[in-house]
Amino acid sequence: MEDITRHLSQTIGPRPAGSENEHRASQYIAQTMTSLGLAVETQPFYFLGWEPTRPATVQLLAPESREIPAGSFLFSGSAPEGGIEGQVAHVGTMYLCRDFFEWPKYAVKDADGSDLGYLVANAGGPAITFVLYELGRFFGRMPYVVVDLPTHEFFQKQIAAGREVRVQMDTAGIVKDNLLSHNVLGVLPGTCLPNEEIVVCAHYDSTLTSPGACDNASGVDAMLRIAKTLAQGPKPAKTIRFIAFGAEEYLMFGSKFYVATLKEKGILDRVKNVVNLDMVGFGDHLAVTVTPESYKRRLQSVFAGLTDAVRVEYNSAVLPVSDHFPFYEEGIPVAMFLGWPYDDYHQSTDSYDKVDPEMIRRTAEAATEVVRQMAGG
Ligand SMILES: [Zn+2]
Repeated sequence: MEDITRHLSQTIGPRPAGSENEHRASQYIAQTMTSLGLAVETQPFYFLGWEPTRPATVQLLAPESREIPAGSFLFSGSAPEGGIEGQVAHVGTMYLCRDFFEWPKYAVKDADGSDLGYLVANAGGPAITFVLYELGRFFGRMPYVVVDLPTHEFFQKQIAAGREVRVQMDTAGIVKDNLLSHNVLGVLPGTCLPNEEIVVCAHYDSTLTSPGACDNASGVDAMLRIAKTLAQGPKPAKTIRFIAFGAEEYLMFGSKFYVATLKEKGILDRVKNVVNLDMVGFGDHLAVTVTPESYKRRLQSVFAGLTDAVRVEYNSAVLPVSDHFPFYEEGIPVAMFLGWPYDDYHQSTDSYDKVDPEMIRRTAEAATEVVRQMAGG
């Protein structure tokens, strides 16, 4: 099999949902699934998206003059031509995702003290591209820009010392009301229990300007390796459905759409377990989010039986940050595998050269064993 991570991240490149590149990636994944002997189906869907028309920029004007690293917020409102200039004031914490993305927020105010726009600092480090939660509905469509953690620390220090901090910020984009994306489904039918399913999934879209090598070409790569191994082995008792989800970076749009579709048809209870692979190409350990406890015990026993397994850290707090979440909301046992730490998350530096192929291989091997056991045979 070709190097899938390389193909998606380097040959195709950034794959923001609704783009031509995302579409190319979906066709490539469908072809690969077909070549592995899976029955392939493509589920198209339309969604509300956002595209930048001017890059996010921040210029510090006082107490010193320099450029500040800036990232785009999807669904941000647009600053007027020429940007916004004003005084920076700390306004609190922005709860983009509770217990996970809780970021310090600053307003840029005019001379009357009215808010003109906001700078929100990624507590995890760099000025990445991110999405305004619930597609901007919670926070409105003021101009928002992501800044980095050192900028937050600088602002804090200056404000505490009573110095005036002034910036000029800019961002602009348009809401796209009819973007097309696809979920790509490949099925390995079960022999004895074909109406019971194990879902193995990974999203294939990326953020705006990121090649998305680790996030999440690596997860698609691992998923297709699992498919290859299981397609060649003895037939599973339960059906295994491999799904490459589109538009995950739009807050799990593809997986939410998929789960809603099954629920409408009254067949969601066919899904017995989910294994989601999101960023498995880097890190010194695998962070495994798994619930309920019985599923965790199955996973633990599988990992204990592997001689070559990566170190695993378990947790049971399921957050709305990846494609297992819509299944979890419906009470389905879920597990997410994620390699951690990874510093290039949601940046243009999330490129093929950062990926550790051994991490993908070992994760895929462990996940193959998990899926094989859950599917029976
Ligand atoms: Zn991801």
